[in-house]
Amino acid sequence: MLEGHFLLTSGLHSPRYVQCARVLMDPPLATRLGESLASELRPILGGRMPGAVVAPALGGILVAHEVARALGCRALFTERQDGAMTLRRGFTLEPDEAVVVVEDAITTGGSTREVIDAVRGKGARVVAVGCLIDRSDGVDLGVPHRSLIRLEVPAWRADDCPLCASGSRPEKPGSRPSPAR
Ligand SMILES: [Zn+2]
Repeated sequence: MLEGHFLLTSGLHSPRYVQCARVLMDPPLATRLGESLASELRPILGGRMPGAVVAPALGGILVAHEVARALGCRALFTERQDGAMTLRRGFTLEPDEAVVVVEDAITTGGSTREVIDAVRGKGARVVAVGCLIDRSDGVDLGVPHRSLIRLEVPAWRADDCPLCASGSRPEKPGSRPSPAR
């Protein structure tokens, strides 16, 4: 967890930033986190194995991989193509296939909703959402969701950011390419 003034991938500003990549760079630790999140998700799945775990690139890819390893299914990811969140070329979902969507962290739920829509656009069903860190204040994704930890991290729109108001400029630690790209 970094302290400072950060531009989150959601576009919000925050005095703290949790760098999941720093944990996930340790493969055995990533596997343990994936197992833990899978354990949180199993009660929602009710004993039925999903066909796939899907996450947004880049931050979610390792999470999807490790949760899928624990659940025993495929790990897929989405990426932005011309601004639209799209299942990576070459990946397919079966009609009505049960899918778990995972993220490293959820703040506004914006990218999570985009992945849910991309999965549904392929005719599959999103049965659960999981993330390592939930730093939202109780976002409703319309799907049951679980996290490993809930963090109360202040996050403001740029207009309301007290750090900006005091003259500081935010730095961008995130890994997601800007939607404007
Ligand atoms: Zn700011």
